[in-house]
Amino acid sequence: MAARAVSVLITGANRGLGLEMVKQMVEASRPVGKLFACCREPDGPRAEALQTLAKKHPDVIVVVRLDATDLCSIQLCAKQVGSVVGTGGLNLLINNAGMLVKGTLQETTTEDMQNTFNTNVVGPMNIIKEFLPHLRAAAKASGMPGMSSSKAAVVSMASFLGSMANVKESYVILPVVSYRVSKAGLHMLTLCAAEELKTDEILFSLIYPGWVRTEMGGDEGEIDAPDSVKGMLSVMASLTEKQNGAFLSYQGSTLPW
Ligand code: NDP
Repeated sequence: MAARAVSVLITGANRGLGLEMVKQMVEASRPVGKLFACCREPDGPRAEALQTLAKKHPDVIVVVRLDATDLCSIQLCAKQVGSVVGTGGLNLLINNAGMLVKGTLQETTTEDMQNTFNTNVVGPMNIIKEFLPHLRAAAKASGMPGMSSSKAAVVSMASFLGSMANVKESYVILPVVSYRVSKAGLHMLTLCAAEELKTDEILFSLIYPGWVRTEMGGDEGEIDAPDSVKGMLSVMASLTEKQNGAFLSYQGSTLPW
């Protein structure tokens, strides 16, 4: 990451890619200053690995409750983060929390579509809105020109399955309609945010982590979480205003919409 200690927030940080990001960020040669590791149930069994990690790095990791589908929890989390970061603001926000329901168009129910959309699109939208004051504060406090992830940035976990360009080839293999539609929505949300907030010098990018062996990716995935996260953190560290509104792979290449 950057030369000076930055503050980072990651949603869905209790398992999968989110937990691996927390691990690699605190173990990096230049660790982050404050890392807000958010999850739905900080005191529940699914957050045990995160809590163990947080105990090892009590000065850096702050475990905070955040449910992407619950606006009150997002607002409360933003308040808690604000009380820690103050006028220094939040440098990097990673919209990682996500869900996937399997199903073809004919199998997908209204409930599947609404739940997936709420988690993967409405959640990130509300998170961006509620954390904007802290991102703006970070942009102002940095004193650096241009855009970067050590100044003020939002990185969201994109998907190849949300890309319109690949539907013909990939649909038969993975007909996850609600997930595809929601990720396409997240991609558009990111482009809108990049356009609307460029004068604030807040960078918005999408990174596709690859097909990763996590609970969501399954055993047949192509790579393990440590390799995906290593690549993504390197891409995040290299982001500049040229990548505002970009759709990148964990290896740094530009992907088709
Ligand atoms: P996992 O299913 O392993 O983990 C998902 C994480 O999101 C969990 O921490 C989960 O928390 C959290 N989460 C789900 N719903 C909510 C919610 N409403 N509020 C807060 N947290 C929530 O997935 P991955 O780690 O594989 O994926 C992480 C991100 O990367 C997702 O956005 C996914 O779409 C994206 N991605 C993953 C790919 C892959 O191959 N794995 C490929 C492309 C994109 P809890 O334990 O409480 O359920």
